[in-house]
This record gives sequence, structure tokens and C-alpha cells, in this order.
Amino acid sequence: MSTICAVSTPQGAGGISVIRISGENAISVAEKIFQPFGGKKVTEMAGHTCVYGKVVSGGEIIDDALLTVFVAPRSFTGENTAEISCHGGIYVTKRVLRACLENGAQLAAAGEFTKRAFLNGKLSLTQAESVIETIKASGEQTLRSANLTREGRLFAKIKTVCDRLVSLLSQLAAWNDYPDEDIPEVEESAINGTLSDSIAVLDEILQGYDRGRIFRHGIDTAIVGRPNVGKSTLMNMLLGYDRSIVTSVAGTTRDIVEESAVVGDVTLRLSDTAGIHETGDEVEKIGVTLAKEKLENSDLVLCVLDGSQPLNADDKALLATLPPPKTVVVINKSDLGSANIFADLSGFMYTAEISAKNGVGLSEIEQALEKIFRINSFDENSMLFANERQKACTELAKSYLSQASQALAFGETLDAVTIMIDKATEALLELTGEKITEAVVDKVFESFCVGK
Ligand code: GDP
Repeated sequence: MSTICAVSTPQGAGGISVIRISGENAISVAEKIFQPFGGKKVTEMAGHTCVYGKVVSGGEIIDDALLTVFVAPRSFTGENTAEISCHGGIYVTKRVLRACLENGAQLAAAGEFTKRAFLNGKLSLTQAESVIETIKASGEQTLRSANLTREGRLFAKIKTVCDRLVSLLSQLAAWNDYPDEDIPEVEESAINGTLSDSIAVLDEILQGYDRGRIFRHGIDTAIVGRPNVGKSTLMNMLLGYDRSIVTSVAGTTRDIVEESAVVGDVTLRLSDTAGIHETGDEVEKIGVTLAKEKLENSDLVLCVLDGSQPLNADDKALLATLPPPKTVVVINKSDLGSANIFADLSGFMYTAEISAKNGVGLSEIEQALEKIFRINSFDENSMLFANERQKACTELAKSYLSQASQALAFGETLDAVTIMIDKATEALLELTGEKITEAVVDKVFESFCVGK
């Protein structure tokens, strides 16, 4: 494979920049541009050693720097690697990088170092993906979860399921392919047992993902309600400052693009997808696919009603479209008195009475969130996923296993059952990266930045 190089520290001036070179010729590229003080030869350096010297290009000294050498396979990528730590100026960093490029290295693609680590068996795919999560981690819980994934927890869990399925598949195949041999029949109850155990493990992982995402990413929140009930005012209350323009003329809310509000222990992501721009139209467009999609894609719906007035037809039509398990009905304008609208809300388990204008009732919303997302009982050990790809593979595997289970219950042939189990296993092998197409690998590493 070619020898690649990139700046591995963030763009911008800092104390130190690290330029990483990896590949068969990494050490000889370093040799051409790095002269250790004291006359040591770069090519004779042992792995995991460091030397002080100067970076030279075209006979000109660029900088004093440290060179660290890693000899294959004992490096992050599994290849020969040289890391030059020079002064962190933007210009000097670029000059060192250019010197590498002029002496036989190519510029690395995004994520190429980590991709090579994966291809060389240094990291499993899930571990590689958690590298990016570690880099992106914005808080303690996220970092801990990324570290757990990097330690291989997710991999180990999935592998246990996979091994059981593979063993079941081999029994089924043996029994099916050699009917004349004396191979014991695979008991239906044994198949069922393996299927339901596996589904349970995958379910547990998926639940951990959904709850973990809330901490990693925040809760995608849609604020809905007919014009003038107080959506913008609620938004301002949540954000704690006047961000949107609040007017008393119906349907004139403007300005909000995307905001995050910290409510209790969680972050609500309030954005344009909240429909706050289009709410006026949206009520008319109830039933239109777009509005439905918005609701489906959000984790939480805050449905604002004016509690000082009886519900009108628009309110009722809107309520009928909302999913109660993820909806908090926010009964606003409590300062104007109550029109006793609770009777119309019997299908909803989460309500909060507030006065957005006076900033009263935030704790009611917090309590509802606590109930919906069970925030306090969250165990970050269950938060193992790094990304959507892994979730999609898990969901696919689970759906195939459920189909296998159904096929069995309906008395279909074991062939049909086997095919489903086989597909589920493939999805899990794709998750762990043990069986994966090049296209998927490329896609995974595209989300990295250059230098990682
Ligand atoms: P939106 O159209 O749903 O975004 O509603 P706005 O937030 O623009 O509010 C419409 C009107 O209701 C404004 O005049 C607000 O000041 C008023 N309003 C909002 N919340 C309350 C509240 O809790 N109490 C009272 N009395 N008025 C409110």
C-alpha cells in the first residue's frame, strides 16, 4: 500500500502539530527530511523511540522537531509509521507536510489511517468507528460509551449471538444436506430457544442505543400547535432568552433556525423541523406526508395548547395525529385561568401546565421528560452503539430472526427458516466488519476527518 501523510492535529495555530506518515516507506520518507541532532540515523531507530532534530527540505531548515518512529506491525495502522511533532504554526505545519509530499508520501484520505488499522486487523470495525466517537465526544457519558465500544463490548455481545446462530446453521445444514446419515434432528424447541434468546440480546442493544442517542445527540423535538397558542414563547422560555420574534398576530412567527435548549439533564434540539415556521400551514396540512414525517422523525413532540380556552377543531384535529407515548401536551397560558380541557386529553399520559409568558411550569415539563426517557435510571453501560450503521445492521438481523421465528410457528420448511437465520447472521457479520463489502468500508471511513 502507498505511503500516506497528513496533519493529525487540528487545523490552526497551537503549541505543537503532529504530521503522521504511514506505509511501507514511512521511515525512509522521514529519513529524507529529518536530521537528528547527534548524527543518529532515522532508519536505524528502534520502534517506539523518539529523537530530537531538525526538519530540512531543499537544503533549508524548516523547524526543530521531534520524530517518533513505530515499526510495523507495532503501530496504530499496523504499518511503518513516523510522526513529526513540530511547532504548531499553520505555516510551519504546512511546510513540513509539503516536505513529506515532496519526498514520496501521498496525502491521506479522510479516515485513511484508521481504515488501514482496520484492514490490517488492528481494530475491529466497531472499534474503528468508536475512534471517531471518541474524537467527537462532547461529554463524559459519550466518552465513556465510546471507550466501552472501543474496548470491544459491542463486538463481544454481537459475536456471542453470531456464534450461536452459526452453530445452529451448521446443525441445520448438516441435518438437511445428509438426510441419510445418522444426524440427530434439530429440535424445534432448540431453534426457538436460540431465536428468542438472540432477539432478546439484540433488543437490549437497540434499547441502549435509543437511550444513549439522547445523551449523545440530544432529543429531536417538534413543537406543534395552532397559531398563537404560545409556541415561540415556550421556545424562548426553554432557551432562556429571547431568540425568536414573538408577536400577538396569528401566524407571524419568524426567525428560528436551530437551537438547543438544556432542560434538566438533557438537551432538546429544537429546529426548523419542529415545524415552528410552518405551523400555521401545518394545521391545514394535517395528514400531509411531510408533516407526518416530521413527527415520526422526532423523539419528542411538545404539543402546545391554550389552556385558557376550550379546544377548537384545529387543536382536536392536531391531537388526533400525535403519538401519545412521545408527546407532552403543554397546556399553556395557565395565568389566564383554566378552561378544563383535560377531558379532551384522556389519550395522553404526559401533560404539563405552564405559563410560558411568565416562565412558570418548566419543572412540569422536566418531570414529563424524566418519565418518557427515564433519564435518572440511565445506565451508560448499556449505551454501546457508535452510529446508525451499526443500529441498522442490528435492526435488520432482528427482523430476519423474527421472520425465522414466524416461519417456524407457521410450520414452514426448515429451508425457509434457515435462509432467514442465514440473512440475520450476515447482517451481524457486516456489523462487526467480519464480512463486509469494500463499499461499506469506504462509507464508514468517509465520515472521519483527514489525519485520523
Ligand atoms: P405561536 O404563534 O404559537 O408561536 O404563539 P406566540 O408564542 O407568538 O404567542 C402568541 C401570543 O400569546 C403572544 O402575545 C404571547 O405573548 C402570548 N402568550 C404566550 N404564552 C402565554 C402565556 O403563558 N400567558 C399569556 N397570558 N400569554 C401568552
